[in-house]
Amino acid sequence: MPKQVWFLTGSQHLYGPETLAQVDANSRRLAARLDAAGLPVGVAWQPVLTGKEAIRDAILAANADPDCVGAIAWMHTFSPAKMWIAGLEALQVPLLHLHTQANDELPWASIDMDFMNLNQAAHGDREFASVETRLGVARKTVTGSLNDPAVVAKVDRWARAALAWDAGRRARLVRFGDNMRDVAVTEGDKVEAERIFGMSVNTYGVNDLVEAIGQVSDAEAEALAADYEDLYDVAEELRAGGERHASLVYGARQELGMRSFLEGVQATAFTTNFEDLGALEQLPGLAVQRLTAEGYGFGAEGDWKTAMLVRLAKVMGDGLSGGASLMEDYTYNLVPGREVILGAHMLEVCPSLTTAKPSLEIHPLGIGGRDDPVRLVFTADPGPGVVVGLADLGERFRLTMNVVENVVPEQPLPKLPVARAVWRPAPDFHTATECWLVSGAPHHTCMFTAPGARELFEDYAAIAGVELAVIDEATTSAGFARELRWEAAYHRLARGL
Ligand code: MN
Repeated sequence: MPKQVWFLTGSQHLYGPETLAQVDANSRRLAARLDAAGLPVGVAWQPVLTGKEAIRDAILAANADPDCVGAIAWMHTFSPAKMWIAGLEALQVPLLHLHTQANDELPWASIDMDFMNLNQAAHGDREFASVETRLGVARKTVTGSLNDPAVVAKVDRWARAALAWDAGRRARLVRFGDNMRDVAVTEGDKVEAERIFGMSVNTYGVNDLVEAIGQVSDAEAEALAADYEDLYDVAEELRAGGERHASLVYGARQELGMRSFLEGVQATAFTTNFEDLGALEQLPGLAVQRLTAEGYGFGAEGDWKTAMLVRLAKVMGDGLSGGASLMEDYTYNLVPGREVILGAHMLEVCPSLTTAKPSLEIHPLGIGGRDDPVRLVFTADPGPGVVVGLADLGERFRLTMNVVENVVPEQPLPKLPVARAVWRPAPDFHTATECWLVSGAPHHTCMFTAPGARELFEDYAAIAGVELAVIDEATTSAGFARELRWEAAYHRLARGL
């Protein structure tokens, strides 16, 4: 069964059965319209709520339904909000407050008091919001007509964030090996991470993976290597009959073994560490790229926090254009006026960032001390996106997001043997990098280029109650530093004394 959000309509008994019948019909119509709007979830209409017990029962049922990932609430008429206190206090799924009306246009010539009583979301939703705010209920507020595509798009993004929240609650993340030695930013509190994001993060011996890879048959690996020749521009030396074909077959074997291992433990995200390769013959490059293109989250060097973000982005961006990948701020073009960031990684950038056909190549790798690894090489498509990093500040987590524009590199990069993206950060290189450093944000990020990527992470962060520091077109260094101080005070106070 596809996941659903429940459509809750508030009213009261005061208006009599005739009015309530109209409320019922109108709310069914609006729920059906949203359900047909192409959201990534179903919209399940619920009977109109007119009393405290029914409200609480409906919300407890929403909490308990494993297919329900969120609730949309709308007050068609006035619905005295003390009735909502017990229900809202019990609410455990993400909430969207939809401030809309059954009708768009005022019937100027015919409007009378019956119409006014039936269509008073303008004050019913204000009453409801006063209690939401008083109780400190986290929610997204969306206002306007469902005939406005921008309004529906906001609901769509919240629904995607709610799906990611739900997926995170049940997600398992596999770490093959520990974190890279002595590195600070890829560390973090995995217990707190499970409390906040829901994912359980556990380590497995890399030789368990080696064993899974060993179970892949030659025929299976050869068949997948043949598929690669259809999908990618495979280097001559790697093709069937080429002198390094065995390396490609080993890459295919890694992909099949990793997938079966991850499926076996029901994991949707994973990490690797080039310092801990056990009996692996190559650092997994192609295998990671193929698995992330399928929807797995990934972080390198044991970076489970970035793997988590990539997985969340994969859920939020499912079915949309654009992609999500581990990215690393690698090096700059620092020529004044032409500053851009060149992002890449040793091997593992996800090909969902390009619509072009990647090339499949083999090159030496300076670190790791194993055989030369196979990898997909491409440049990320030009266009808008975000990079998001998760830092563990010790007392709590902070997400930092930079709005960026991927660009066509000003010159080709014929010697660079890895997938990469070249981007211009908003509002400008200096402000963006200053703010990123002041925020203490990591060098590993999730690059996310789906339409609405920014709002998707904003909605997710609001649901999770995690700080999100945004660097965008309007950011100034001084203003950003002030916001960080306010946020620090807020988050310390919000967790109580
Ligand atoms: Mn790295």
